Amino acid sequence: MIPIDAILFFGVFNFISCFQCNITSNLSLKADIKSYRQDTIIQLKFHSNINSFKIKSNPAALPIVFISLHDDEKTGQLVVSNYVKENKSVFIQIVNNNHRLIRFTSLKRRYAFDPNRIFSKKGIRLTLEGYSSYSSLAATKVKQFAALILQNLSTAKTIIAVHNNSNGKYSIHSYLKGKKDYKNALRVYEEPGSDPDDFFLTTSTQLFEKLRAKKINIVLQNNKQVTNDGSLSFYYRNSNKQYINIEAQEGHFSKQNEMLHALLSVLQ
Ligand SMILES: [Zn+2]
Repeated sequence: MIPIDAILFFGVFNFISCFQCNITSNLSLKADIKSYRQDTIIQLKFHSNINSFKIKSNPAALPIVFISLHDDEKTGQLVVSNYVKENKSVFIQIVNNNHRLIRFTSLKRRYAFDPNRIFSKKGIRLTLEGYSSYSSLAATKVKQFAALILQNLSTAKTIIAVHNNSNGKYSIHSYLKGKKDYKNALRVYEEPGSDPDDFFLTTSTQLFEKLRAKKINIVLQNNKQVTNDGSLSFYYRNSNKQYINIEAQEGHFSKQNEMLHALLSVLQ
């Protein structure tokens, strides 16, 4: 068990019940995460004088865990929240005032990072440098935060991430020859007539085959030579867990929901 007080800086844990989301109690940082009931979502809340974020999670040991890292990507969160309300599932969500970047101060210096770039040493360095500046102390804090997220994913066999993009930017076409992510893909299936912004990205050949058979856009990550960007898909490149991202254009609720159900049907 990672010492929680080391992870969340000066944070406060708020416990909320799963379905009503009412705050039922506030505990100090030294609360033991293992004592939570299975049907309880936990919000881990971090306050700093710049920004605040929370992680909502449920520590139940279920084979599928959903995760939303970017709090500015609302459609995927809504798709998963709706599913979780009806089904006993685990959904880890960073709640960060609808922002993508998490900001914090340490020794009076301001830092910012992308929470999907923190799952490798190199990724942490690049994201701190890219959005603020690097220091070993800041990197240690970010690494501890990443460890907390990974701890919540540790019992899952399948990790389903949800992300949203904007029209015509990052898409399945980013993985085609000559494009930015070409070397990160081993195989790409694009359904004729589909919107290229709506696609799966997976580390699993099995999931690639099954979803391709359902005629849905999908990228199989090249786990051997994927760029070390510190993303979750990079982290799980050689794992015995299967990782899959349901990536859809912001606002494509029906499509992302349909993709979720197609995925769940092949996971049965
Ligand atoms: Zn995202």
